[in-house]
Amino acid sequence: MKQTDAEPVQGSDFIRNTIKDDLAVNKNQGRVATRFPPEPNGYLHIGHAKSICLNFGISEEFEGATCNLRFDDTNPVKEDVEYIDSIVEDVTWLGFSWNGEIRYASDYFETLYDFAVQLIKDGKAYVCSLSADEIREYRGTLTEPGKDSPYRNRSVEENLDLFKRMRNGDFSDGAHILRAKIDMASPNINLRDPAIYRIKKAEHHRTGDAWCIYPMYDYTHCISDALEGITHSLCTLEFEDHRPLYDWVLDTLKTPCHPQQIEFSRLNLSYTVMSKRKLLQLVEEGHVNGWDDPRMPTISGLRRRGYTPTAIRNFCRRIGISKKDSRIDMGVLEECLRDDLNDTALRVMGVLEPLKVVIRNYPEGQTETVELMNHPLKPELGTRNVPFSKVIYIERSDFMEDPPKKFFRLGPGKEVRLRGAYYITCTDVVKDEATGEIKELVCTHDPESRGGGTPDGRKVKGTIHWVSAEHACSAEIRLYDRLFLSENPEKGGADFRESLNPDSLTIIRDARVEPALANAKPGTVFQFERQGYFCVEPRDSRAEALVFNRTVTLKDTWAKLSQEG
Ligand code: ATP
Ligand code: MG
Repeated sequence: MKQTDAEPVQGSDFIRNTIKDDLAVNKNQGRVATRFPPEPNGYLHIGHAKSICLNFGISEEFEGATCNLRFDDTNPVKEDVEYIDSIVEDVTWLGFSWNGEIRYASDYFETLYDFAVQLIKDGKAYVCSLSADEIREYRGTLTEPGKDSPYRNRSVEENLDLFKRMRNGDFSDGAHILRAKIDMASPNINLRDPAIYRIKKAEHHRTGDAWCIYPMYDYTHCISDALEGITHSLCTLEFEDHRPLYDWVLDTLKTPCHPQQIEFSRLNLSYTVMSKRKLLQLVEEGHVNGWDDPRMPTISGLRRRGYTPTAIRNFCRRIGISKKDSRIDMGVLEECLRDDLNDTALRVMGVLEPLKVVIRNYPEGQTETVELMNHPLKPELGTRNVPFSKVIYIERSDFMEDPPKKFFRLGPGKEVRLRGAYYITCTDVVKDEATGEIKELVCTHDPESRGGGTPDGRKVKGTIHWVSAEHACSAEIRLYDRLFLSENPEKGGADFRESLNPDSLTIIRDARVEPALANAKPGTVFQFERQGYFCVEPRDSRAEALVFNRTVTLKDTWAKLSQEG
């Protein structure tokens, strides 16, 4: 089901091509089934969006295909219901829907246990009683083979008994583990008798205290895929070396369904970190204000900042799917956002740094309204009336006392057009006597220039935005910059926290915006003309105390800076 305006049609990449080839030979009886399998140990980030768009995207693009949402909840200590709820919200917000009910690996705990018993009976798994340190020692290294555990040849009966007692809670954490019996000399360390069950006396958020042994990820994942009839199990490249184990488990258990694991490269984005563990650290150490801080690369942070599902889906399509590792410039994501917002966001006027302007020859106490289009390219989006009066605010940066030649805005004696209203000419600059700071400008307006144009046809190059002082709403505006100063905050194993940008958040407390914005719905994004895109802060904004997040600037100021620099 398609719920956004994302650019349509099927992508073409090596995974989709594999699926097409499989369909051509009627593999899996022509079925295509994918899944998105997050571990509920944190909020989703933009990297997950890549995986979501791939898995759910395929289910939308291929006739009859499905995509399951499955929580890989095998580690009770790190997982939380808050994370489950946020993940469900994020996938839904991106516009995707899953096949049937939400699945949980924990729903399969009993089946997974039975499969483990079967492995023991087949002589393919054993209970090992080495300590964690010893197991590490016996495992060998990349260049040296491992050594067999002294417990490797326990009898089936003894293994069955011990495993049952592990389940019953007879042993403490770490006393024993269940291991697959594969090959301690394998060049692939993942095949050196990997652990498949461990004792963990911890409460699980779904199964409570029903279990004190928990299956390991590699063992759980392939079986969950098989149980759900997944055909293509898509994951990121770090699992490539785990694929032989994925296949070993399913081959050894002779599961009727054997999904094909295919790996693709992770998304890395410049000027940020992406792992949930590191994002959690940013939250817990107070470097940001929660998982949905608008500076975070989380889906909830991007949403709060004003990103749209369409922009994120188009971004994922634009970066594509491959096996090549790369770091995508943040500018690409921002460009996708601008493309969408330019199309959809209504235009308004907001003055970030107000400079008071008194129009000397405009009647005291008079108010008139100026009709402005809500979107310059979409007349169907209508117009609005903006009040105009004798005292207005303009942007401080639109006035220069000693302007260079090409400054087509306001300066002493210069004339400028007020958007939709009059031409004004600056006649006086009022300064604070002590500090010399400019306090206000005095201007005259040409009453015949209303709407932009004069009988004498004289040209005025610049048009600036403004608000009526008496009518405008005061607003807090939060300006965001990169969260990190370094393009790759983890370069060379660096502590990413050392490159945090101390100026990633700037708060403007007394901006002024058009009165119509007092009633804007939280989360709505507007284009403040000439300034950028701003979103009504979803959590903190109130009609009587407006707060906006700057979603993105109008142009990529960073690209410009680095070109100039
Ligand atoms: P993290 O390291 O951030 O915790 P993870 O891979 O452990 O990520 P999971 O919850 O296990 O997170 O991931 C769910 C799915 O999302 C997996 O299939 C994983 O491969 C994919 N995924 C995670 N990060 C990225 C990324 N940066 N780019 C693309 N896919 C990703
Ligand atoms: Mg993980």
